Amino acid sequence: MFNFIMFGPPGSGKGTQSIKIAEKYGLVHISTGDIFRSEIRNKTVLGLKVQSIIEKGELVPDELLVDILRSAMHRYPNPDGFVFDGFPRTLRQANDLDQLMQEEGSAMSLVVALEVHDQEIIGRLLKRAELEGRKDDTEDVIRNRLDIYLGQTKPLIEFYIEQDKFAAVDGVGSVDEIFNSICEIIDQKK
Ligand code: AMP
Repeated sequence: MFNFIMFGPPGSGKGTQSIKIAEKYGLVHISTGDIFRSEIRNKTVLGLKVQSIIEKGELVPDELLVDILRSAMHRYPNPDGFVFDGFPRTLRQANDLDQLMQEEGSAMSLVVALEVHDQEIIGRLLKRAELEGRKDDTEDVIRNRLDIYLGQTKPLIEFYIEQDKFAAVDGVGSVDEIFNSICEIIDQKK
């Protein structure tokens, strides 16, 4: 299996690149943000529980994530691997993910971060708010999400550097340029 984490701040283009990578390499794309948005749309128990958390730009509690991930992964028998998008976001989640991979008899293969500076991110997310009307794309919430990224998620870079699984690419440029840079790294590692 080839298991890949598309890492980066909100608005760095993780979603777009993850879909392209999953398609090119025949991997299963798992976006926890997409899962939550679908649960909210369908007004499920989980959706109702997480709706206000997500609208404030806070993180959904770690305890909920592991079961969601496990059932998302089990929907695909014998996959060639996964592209994780928006997960892990905390150290606890990174450890849980290692554990889940072990349960599957596999391991994380590679983590690639998209590097985008804060001003660019805020501009992109405000534009997305206009286009898609996401409730967590207002300026205050965007700043909160960025702060949470810096405080809780960015430190995971160290976790993956220590495991020798980390690389970064410039996340500013055309979608295809960025995609090609990511593919070069994957092809070296595969
Ligand atoms: P995203 O589409 O990845 O930006 O996720 C949207 C929102 O869903 C985040 O701002 C969080 O509130 C929630 N969320 C998504 N993934 C996670 C995660 N791994 N841990 C905690 N909360 C998450």
